[in-house]
Amino acid sequence: MSVRIPRPALAALLVGALALPLVACAPEPESAAEASAAPSPEPAPAPAPAEEPPAEAEFDRAAHSVDDPMSIWVVSNKLRPLSPADFAPADLVMPEGVENEFSQPLREPAARAVEALVAAAAADGHAVRIISAYRDYATQVALYDGYTARDGQAAADTYSARPGHSEHQTGLAVDFDDHGACYLAACFGETPAGLWLAEHAADHGFVVRYPEGKQEVTGFMPEPWHFRYVGPELAQQMRATGTTTLEEFFGLPAAPGYAQ
Ligand SMILES: [Zn+2]
Repeated sequence: MSVRIPRPALAALLVGALALPLVACAPEPESAAEASAAPSPEPAPAPAPAEEPPAEAEFDRAAHSVDDPMSIWVVSNKLRPLSPADFAPADLVMPEGVENEFSQPLREPAARAVEALVAAAAADGHAVRIISAYRDYATQVALYDGYTARDGQAAADTYSARPGHSEHQTGLAVDFDDHGACYLAACFGETPAGLWLAEHAADHGFVVRYPEGKQEVTGFMPEPWHFRYVGPELAQQMRATGTTTLEEFFGLPAAPGYAQ
């Protein structure tokens, strides 16, 4: 099933909520409030200082769809299957100059961003490679069926997405490794490479998609190796606001489990 959220209304609410503390902090609260309202009959207030940072309230949470599987902001979780379930992106390319264990491609913007992220990591002394990137629907069927046969469905659901629900099927998700002992393991988050990635991913448009302490929101155990490309604008906005999940950022329902 697919969950429909009235996003424009939601975005307006969120932006409105954010505007309050922002306006309270502004040097000229009244002017700032007027500036954000409808055209004012009053003379224009003095322009704000040019060095003022971009306002939180100006971030447009409706700039991209969270439903369209080709959107870089698509939110895929246990309550939000990709539609269609066998969706396949049209712009898959192979990241260049990056070790890639299973030679899996990514969508073009994510591939270019991975190249930059891995190069920046290398410049800081961290040898990062790709374990897994795009996986198509059929591959996810095979993976999930294998995990279910081995561990049972309840256990498999905690660490492997059902087909049609995997972020890897968007072509925007990538699993990283540092050639160390924490291959697809929780301890990756404490390795120098894992720590570096968590700190710098947003500079290149990536977020840690399944952070610590958010299993009830994302539906998945922490995966410090799994990064999701959302573009630098959103990744940096999430970092700046301290919001660690896409569900919370967009005001979407928590997705601790499947609907059925
Ligand atoms: Zn992953």
